[in-house]
Amino acid sequence: MSNADRRREREELCELLAARGVSDRRVLAAIRSVPRERFLPPELQPAAYDNNALAIGEDQTISQPLMVALMTQQLKLTGAETVLEVGTGSGYQAAILAELAAQVVTIERLPGLAERAEKTLRELGYKNIEFRIGDGTLGCAEAAPFDGIIVTAGAPDVPAPLYRQLREGGRLVIPVGDQGLQILKTVTREPQGPVIEEAGGCRFVPLIGDAGWTRPE
Ligand code: SAH
Repeated sequence: MSNADRRREREELCELLAARGVSDRRVLAAIRSVPRERFLPPELQPAAYDNNALAIGEDQTISQPLMVALMTQQLKLTGAETVLEVGTGSGYQAAILAELAAQVVTIERLPGLAERAEKTLRELGYKNIEFRIGDGTLGCAEAAPFDGIIVTAGAPDVPAPLYRQLREGGRLVIPVGDQGLQILKTVTREPQGPVIEEAGGCRFVPLIGDAGWTRPE
């Protein structure tokens, strides 16, 4: 596929995202500048700019571009923030965050995926991403507090450690529900306690860990 074709496909994807509620121009610009094909195995690269989740190995997926954009938009990033991502996966969402925030910490429980994502993101030149391997439901206490936390796997409930690691006014975006279907929740840490906003239904792979699911169903 030629570069011109890729550019046109990326442009069409951004038009679709804008039509489906992505209005933050910085988020659209980030989607336009990150080469999603680089986060995919070769045989799936032709499908990089379809609005679909795709398999990345180890039973995991790179999220659908619309979900990446809507979840990122919920964080209301201006460029100064420190953000935690739980579920590095392919590394694509981490790249989008790195375009929009000052510092990104990303945690993945599967070392194979974490290593591949780190390699891709280093090759693309990102210098503001820190990589961790472990149970992200516990957050990352030594890098806390965070202005934003994004969980890219479906949780049975909002993990308490993640809420505790938010700065006051910070936002946590997380799919919450059963393993088949979740609702996207945005939890803002206010002085009086959590304020929760709910958006539409979504379907993510399970968040597995201490404050998540014990195993896939
Ligand atoms: N953000 C990713 C989406 C990956 S899918 C991307 O842009 O490609 C969700 C990922 O969450 C999977 O890789 C899965 O292994 C990981 N995951 C599940 N439970 C986790 C946990 N407790 N801590 C860290 N990562 C977890």
